[in-house]
Amino acid sequence: MTSELPQIDEQINQSGETLQRFRGLPPQLKRDLRDLLKHSNNRSSVDRVLHLLKLYDRSIRFISIGHEQSIAPNQELNQNQQKQLSEQLLLLIAELDFACEAGSRLLAIQKELLLGVDAQALIELSLETLKLVITGTHQERQSSQKFLTKLNTGIASILKNSNLTVSQSQSYLDKRIEIRKEFSSLVNQATETLNNNKHLDPCREEFSDIFSQLQVLEEHQKVMEERENTLLEKIKQNENQLSAFYEETKEYRRRLGEQEKRMHLDHLTKVNNRAALAERIDIDYKDWLRSQQPLCCAMIDIDNFKQINDKFGHLAGDKALKIIAKTMQEQLRNSDFIARFRGEEFIILLPNCEQKPRNLILNNIKKAVSELPFKFKNNQISITVTVGATTFIGNDVPEEVIERSDKALLQAKSVGRNQLVWL
Ligand code: GH3
Ligand code: MG
Ligand code: MG
Repeated sequence: MTSELPQIDEQINQSGETLQRFRGLPPQLKRDLRDLLKHSNNRSSVDRVLHLLKLYDRSIRFISIGHEQSIAPNQELNQNQQKQLSEQLLLLIAELDFACEAGSRLLAIQKELLLGVDAQALIELSLETLKLVITGTHQERQSSQKFLTKLNTGIASILKNSNLTVSQSQSYLDKRIEIRKEFSSLVNQATETLNNNKHLDPCREEFSDIFSQLQVLEEHQKVMEERENTLLEKIKQNENQLSAFYEETKEYRRRLGEQEKRMHLDHLTKVNNRAALAERIDIDYKDWLRSQQPLCCAMIDIDNFKQINDKFGHLAGDKALKIIAKTMQEQLRNSDFIARFRGEEFIILLPNCEQKPRNLILNNIKKAVSELPFKFKNNQISITVTVGATTFIGNDVPEEVIERSDKALLQAKSVGRNQLVWL
């Protein structure tokens, strides 16, 4: 042990210095370490080793806590980013519309996101969404391809049939002309025979020959009629097939139209979604540029909505959202427009609307929502909305106006909720 002491001392110094070089240790720990290294003589080596070990222990603990602390702001940042990512994913999903399995799974993902997920789950859900988009697109493409292939082969067979019927009717026409020619030649022959002979008896044989040829012609005629009937039936079949295809394409077009409409509707509230808003605001903006009639844009946010979810659950929140959206829509004129902008926020466009009526409509919305008799878990509650509103002026473009209405909304929220603020 005695021979090993210098080695132990050297190791203590080395390890102590290593620890000293570590930046960010608390001052007291640094002082203790300095003391340990400086006053080596009045302590036994074992004592110093134990002391150093304790200091290492304290450092490790501090570093692990410090590490947590140092990544805390990052996590906070991540949480912010996470929230934004989650909101963006929600918006993207809201614009997707797949009829198949992918559609229902996307709705389930939407619900999960609304309930709040951690970073890991968010990544997994984003990935799954991407996969679902690919599967959904693939399936839709397959079903369109199937439909087009069916239509294509059907049309090809109709075309083939109609080519056949055209050439058949051409050959039947040739045959008929031939029969008619033979018939008129027999008539000529009979007339000539009659003209050349004063008495019928000598030409009896000739007539009988003509009659039997006429009979053969009549037989031909009969066969022709049967063939033409079959041809007519074929044409009718083609016609039926064509009208069946026409009906099918009409149905397909109707489904596409419905899908397009659904793509413009918010799944939950059934009012327009952001994609529809983007299209509509562009149209209203262009109209405003042309007519310079007042165009109002209002952003409406449900007050303390998080509390509803927290107190009564997300399903109750969903239900409230639906009812509120419907109530707000009911206050609008036919020419007005409402869209769910994000989460519990809506945008309303009031074209050709003077100051008085636009104030009235927006106040009516506030009033109508606040008067809704919500009852959750036997609690009678009332929900209010805050409105930030503005109108298009000067060189405004839609993005600026939406931003201004958002600012007005923020102002209204800061004044207190259940307000209407114009900016
Ligand atoms: P404020 O008055 O300031 O607007 O408060 P708030 O609680 O309404 O606002 P906050 O932004 O804190 O919360 C909005 C909440 O809306 C959080 C989110 O879970 C909820 N939300 C958004 N979309 C939906 C949805 O589709 N269904 C349900 N149930 N809740 C939703
Ligand atoms: Mg909000
Ligand atoms: Mg709100």
